Amino acid sequence: MSRKCLFPFSNIVLNPNGSVSPCCKYNLNKVDTEIDIETLYDKNIKELFYQPAMEKIRNDFLNGIEPEACKACWDEESAGITSLRQHRDNVARWHLSKRDNYPIRYQDPKIITMDLKFSSLCNLKCRICGPYCSSNWLKESQDTGEFHEHTIKIFGKYAERKFVKREVNFDIFKELIPDLHIIEFYGGEPLMQPEHARIMDMLKNYPNVKKLGIELFYNTNGTIYDETISEVWDKMALVEFNISLDDIGPRFEYQRHPAKWTEVIDNIKQYQDKAKDNVKISLYTTISMYNIFYIDELIKFNADNLKCNLKFNLLHWPDKMSIKNLPTNIKHIIKAKVESLDEQSLSYVQNIFGIKEVISFMLDNEGSTDDLAEFIKVTNLHDDYRNESFATTFPEYWSLLNETN
Ligand code: SF4
Ligand code: SF4
Repeated sequence: MSRKCLFPFSNIVLNPNGSVSPCCKYNLNKVDTEIDIETLYDKNIKELFYQPAMEKIRNDFLNGIEPEACKACWDEESAGITSLRQHRDNVARWHLSKRDNYPIRYQDPKIITMDLKFSSLCNLKCRICGPYCSSNWLKESQDTGEFHEHTIKIFGKYAERKFVKREVNFDIFKELIPDLHIIEFYGGEPLMQPEHARIMDMLKNYPNVKKLGIELFYNTNGTIYDETISEVWDKMALVEFNISLDDIGPRFEYQRHPAKWTEVIDNIKQYQDKAKDNVKISLYTTISMYNIFYIDELIKFNADNLKCNLKFNLLHWPDKMSIKNLPTNIKHIIKAKVESLDEQSLSYVQNIFGIKEVISFMLDNEGSTDDLAEFIKVTNLHDDYRNESFATTFPEYWSLLNETN
């Protein structure tokens, strides 16, 4: 029997360029040439959900065709990993067992979950990021010549406010509220987005919204403390608030320029103080070439100070920033550092994708010396532009990289 997926029938991902897709992993192999054509510039959010390209994906699944653009899921399932498709299926079945009216709709597609990346508007220019995700990267990318001018122009459009310009999108959102189950806010920086503020207002004022059991998910960079947000959160069934924290002190500031370490820590503590039982605050750590060497210090800092759930996200792209590119001797030093951590410090690391899996990925995958050289080149390029220094901010790591390179 062919495999089916609930996402195209119930979910919409809004991308910073204004296009939509059924999930965040669809078409990573770029074989669907139709899905990116229609955008918020010409269509509203409902028209995009029912557009021919989305209908085609739904019809394929209904007719027993497994779309080629879903390769990410098919590959993971072949490798025995629970794919996004399977995860969604499990979640839906769990909800169905608790809530009779949970909509699993293969025949009657309807938006019940939304992943909203309204634009690339962001106040940071993290080293692992670029002008495709953050508006704050645009000028530096242009000045340093890292991206072609034509590409920068395209990325510039990602920063435009497309959803908020068309009032009809908010009317549609209001219509959708009674059916909504999950809303995800990603960036750019979601707490800077005017669309997020409008949606919070609409949820706050919607009659009996608490009874609807809506869940909110965030990834935020932690630089903004929004004290009005908790009024809305109180009315939600669940809020998962992930704050990006990849390192500590000056190394954090180097990686997430121009964020200020003490301000972000104060914000995290304020969110923790305000959080009721339905709000889960987690640290979201993207593991890259920049932070892997000192990951033990972040784990320890969290255990001693914040005591947050710690979630790891392995960076795979850009290739040059993947930890697989490290020389073998450095990989083993990192492994030994992590193994010396005490149980109590490790107890905050989320189990599904924990530190052991990070270390296995690093040891089992071989990168390329070209990518390592490219990592150092790009790091130097932006050090010069920002008047920062990898060598003085990461002295021990830098000398090991130099010895082996
Ligand atoms: S099968 Fe996977 S890639 Fe395809 S729509 Fe479902 S979750 Fe997305
Ligand atoms: S906060 Fe997020 S979107 Fe902004 S620069 Fe950093 S990684 Fe990119």
